[in-house]
Amino acid sequence: MPKAPIEKIGGRKLKPATLMMGHGYDPELSEGSLKPPIFLTSTFAFENAAAGKRFFEGITGKRPGGSDGLVYSRFNGPNQEILEDRLSIWDEAEDALVFSSGMSAITTVLLANVNQGDVVVHSGPLYAATETLINKILGRFGVTFLDFPAGASPSEVATMLEEAKVKAAANGGKVAIIYLESPANPTNALVDIEGVADARKQVFGDEAAPPIAIDNTFLGPLWQQPLKHGADIVIYSLTKYVGGHSDLVAGGVLGSKAHMDPIRAIRNTIGTICDPNTAWMLMRSLETLELRMTRAGENAEKVCAFLRDHPKVDGLGYLGFIESKSQQDIYDRHCSGAGSTFSLFIKGGEAEAFRFLDAMKIAKLAVSLGGTETLASLPAAMTHISVPDERRAALGITDNLVRISIGVEDPDDLIADFDQALAAV
Ligand SMILES: *Cc1c(COP(=O)(O)O)cnc(C)c1O
Repeated sequence: MPKAPIEKIGGRKLKPATLMMGHGYDPELSEGSLKPPIFLTSTFAFENAAAGKRFFEGITGKRPGGSDGLVYSRFNGPNQEILEDRLSIWDEAEDALVFSSGMSAITTVLLANVNQGDVVVHSGPLYAATETLINKILGRFGVTFLDFPAGASPSEVATMLEEAKVKAAANGGKVAIIYLESPANPTNALVDIEGVADARKQVFGDEAAPPIAIDNTFLGPLWQQPLKHGADIVIYSLTKYVGGHSDLVAGGVLGSKAHMDPIRAIRNTIGTICDPNTAWMLMRSLETLELRMTRAGENAEKVCAFLRDHPKVDGLGYLGFIESKSQQDIYDRHCSGAGSTFSLFIKGGEAEAFRFLDAMKIAKLAVSLGGTETLASLPAAMTHISVPDERRAALGITDNLVRISIGVEDPDDLIADFDQALAAV
């Protein structure tokens, strides 16, 4: 067991940026190695048989809260456990679990919560693979869904929850989970998490209410902390801002121990935990998380200020320039920063957007987001190409919508790049 981590100096509670350098790791246990070694092992030796029995009681859920010792690398490992301790600090979560990808995290959360006949209520749009998972794959096992648009009011959400309750009863199931993604991709529409929590209370009271899970990949953990606004389970693609260097794929899930226990049990069974090397890389990334996200956010603000009034630009979907009053109200209550991922509408159509993308010199033409380097892509022709035309139109995914993720480069260099690429349109 590691030394009790230092969390306070005098009366001062240390900030996440400080804790990322040492929390949960005791060098004395690893030959004084300042950084945690990568533990490449598939299994762990027990001190004695009784310890083995005790650890397995934790693994199998005979005792809640997970194992108090290391057993086998499909269940846990030192790198993953230190990472989970550090990850939970940002959202002030009681517990955290790490996964081999954002999608394996989402899949494990859903498998832990849904049964045949159940209804999933979700905001829309969702990340395309999440939509496929809920709408198509879970459908094969008798799970149905209802969805509401990301910007829906609390009373609209309540109406949908009532409808879901009736539908679930008719199918012999329950409303299993309320699944949110905010801001939505690529529209950047925000979900009113507090409003959804109010609607749930109105419809279900305090008893047997479905948990609220939210994919917080776009703004978390720095700019939005949904556990403070009524969510029960926070999900990340750690591939994005948390990993932050476009060099790994991983996922994370955070919340109370009571919500994490059933998810951990499924992860133990199906083996969706991330590997030790990836966990180590993520720990290194967490040391600079605040620096990187802060710089990227500041860069995005400068780039968007330049783009806002540019004659070749037909609009921006950037959380720093929200036009709707109700969306601004959600932003003011939930968010502490506008992020660095936004939509840029180029004047014209696909041809003009292609010319713009092909002319960019610093920004790389690639999907994904949250890395140190600036990326640009065209959702209608790339990530959302398989979405039917009418649905794409309804979601506002036009042929001239360029998706930008701003990195940590020099902001004036980035502005020069956008300037010359727009000139080429
Ligand atoms: C990338 C992403 C995912 C999927 O994560 P992977 O790590 O690629 O599996 C899920 N949700 C959102 C919002 C994402 O951006």
